[in-house]
Amino acid sequence: MREIYMDHSATTPVDGAVLETMLPYFREKFGNASSIHQFGQEARNVVEEARERVAGFIGAKSSEITFLSGGSEADNFALQGLTSAYSGRGKHIITTSIEHPAIIETANYLEQNGISVTYLQPDKYGLIHPHQVEDAIRPETFLISVMHVNNELGTMNPIGEIGAIAQNHGILFHTDAVQAFGKLPIDVVAMNIDLLSASSHKIYGPKGVGILFIKEGTQIDKLIHGAAHERNRRAGTENVAGIVGFDKAVEICENVMTEEAARLTVLREYFWNKIETSIPDVIQNGHPTEKIPGILNMSFKGVEGESLLISLDMKGIAASSGSACSSGSNKPSHVLQSIRLAPELLNGTLRFSLGRSNTEDDIDYTVDALSEIVERLRAMAPVS
Ligand SMILES: *Cc1c(COP(=O)(O)O)cnc(C)c1O
Repeated sequence: MREIYMDHSATTPVDGAVLETMLPYFREKFGNASSIHQFGQEARNVVEEARERVAGFIGAKSSEITFLSGGSEADNFALQGLTSAYSGRGKHIITTSIEHPAIIETANYLEQNGISVTYLQPDKYGLIHPHQVEDAIRPETFLISVMHVNNELGTMNPIGEIGAIAQNHGILFHTDAVQAFGKLPIDVVAMNIDLLSASSHKIYGPKGVGILFIKEGTQIDKLIHGAAHERNRRAGTENVAGIVGFDKAVEICENVMTEEAARLTVLREYFWNKIETSIPDVIQNGHPTEKIPGILNMSFKGVEGESLLISLDMKGIAASSGSACSSGSNKPSHVLQSIRLAPELLNGTLRFSLGRSNTEDDIDYTVDALSEIVERLRAMAPVS
């Protein structure tokens, strides 16, 4: 059977060159980066080289990059670490209703501990407007956290404008850039970003490694206590092989990002045009222009997304309904609810996230399969 993977926003395969670069760090180069001897020094050097590359990729200084276990830890570190450091000075956080659970759940947790949180609602395309952020600011606001690109819709928020507002008000600005990093150019200085989360496994690197960028001078408390690793910001023996792999994954993004974005835009448009001409009653979700190339989110009227996913899976096609983290729970996605998608479309929504392996031929096969499946499911189900 064919295997077509169109769930790159959930995770990506490790690039072959990334894997090759990592392997020696499991075997002969296994040193602990904190050790004095040559094994340790070898590990230390590659970790610092990686730190420099990742920093350069987003316009930061290497001393501003903390390696950690991934996007979820970075988000937790940012919100919890700042709240702790600002206790007594700030009591209000502005975020959005469409964040990844790593932000939403952390914000909910902080609310239980006396912090008040504003969850801004996006427009129908999933976009947060800068004036909404400005209007929500209170004297006690110390942090604004708005995601760069939404993982379900692909909608891209005006991060630079939001950063400027935060700076004008002397408020910290964090962005969960997990879905933007490696896909769009990011400049933390030009965009006035104080903290930024990114993850390796969304960009063809290994799972379990990521970064939090923390602008020089920012006061933040530790999330993971222990020895003085990562300039005393995050305890734990460095995941050297993972960091080396992340470094290589970033290097590849530097080389292919522009052309891959152009290719995926063409591919996504081809996909949507084919869907529109072969399947009735489908709408596309997300912003018409402010979106990243790889994501196509669609609602099929009168069909269950879960049934669609299972039928697609039987044909070897991997997509997702809502986010991977919420699927299985059968609850409509909080993002789709936030854009006030019509109730009859909420459960019939699929996200296809395209990536490096996908071709026009994959799209042809997928659209053929989809039109057959949708027709069959609609014939079976009473129209809702
Ligand atoms: C995947 C993802 C995360 C979580 O990153 P992990 O490295 O899997 O913990 C956070 N935010 C967004 C937007 C994501 O897509």
